[in-house]
Amino acid sequence: AHSQAVGAPKIPSVSWQDIGGLHEVKKEILDTIQLPLEHPELLSLGLRRSGLLLYGPPGTGKTLLAKAVATTCTMTFLSVKGPELINMYVGQSEENVRNVFARARAAAPCIIFFDELDSLAPNRGRSGDSGGVMDRVVSQLLAELDGLHSSKEVFVIGATNRPDLLDSALLRPGRFDKLVYVGVNEDRESQLQVLSAVTRKFKLDPSVNLSSILEECPAQLTGADIYSLCSDAMMCAVKRKVEWIEEGLDTESSALVLTMEDFLQAAAR
Ligand code: ATP
Repeated sequence: AHSQAVGAPKIPSVSWQDIGGLHEVKKEILDTIQLPLEHPELLSLGLRRSGLLLYGPPGTGKTLLAKAVATTCTMTFLSVKGPELINMYVGQSEENVRNVFARARAAAPCIIFFDELDSLAPNRGRSGDSGGVMDRVVSQLLAELDGLHSSKEVFVIGATNRPDLLDSALLRPGRFDKLVYVGVNEDRESQLQVLSAVTRKFKLDPSVNLSSILEECPAQLTGADIYSLCSDAMMCAVKRKVEWIEEGLDTESSALVLTMEDFLQAAAR
């Protein structure tokens, strides 16, 4: 019943321009997915790679990257959070895993995005339930991944903060055999690229200097930190505009413009 409630997978609309920085990571992902999709004849020898694993701290853009590659390659996107598939009823968790792959094949070309993969496929033996539910889930997942070789148009992207917890069988050739690190933005240049990407569609007052905003922020920032900075700045601008409208100084139809002050207030938080 649960999987029926989730609609058919759609093609997302995330463009590469929405993603700041991460140039190397973008290239790796495109090479893995776009190249074989466009030139299947070159990979007819069975050396095909069907999965890659994005790992790194939360909020660094893993989901966004997976969606952008689906958009670029005109593929549907099926997002699954590891814990969602685990069910206490006997056999149901394996069935859920099977269903995910069946839905993906029906919606091919499709990318299955497994978020929190470590919770779906923890190291067998370590979880202390040998022969138990997690064991069977991992076996099912491995069987489905191996089956992907015959359905050329389904790819899997896994995401995890803890690759060390994954069952090592998942990382063997032909499965999630390409590991790509997605990290925190530690230098101002890459932070600036993210900030520019996030504010790309905003209307900014000429007073806004993106580099100076970052000077007011901590040295290390994830994409999610920068995103939340921008949404705070947006809230400041909205509140100001509402006040102005109430005082008759502005109209609802005029564009929302973000000022340097909005960003500085947001950064101060
Ligand atoms: P989690 O591990 O928690 O699932 P994640 O790595 O998948 O995190 P995302 O969900 O992709 O992170 O990103 C969180 C938010 O931060 C998103 O709303 C996204 O818009 C923004 N964001 C993250 N990285 C970037 C980036 N490089 N450029 C623009 N926005 C970003």
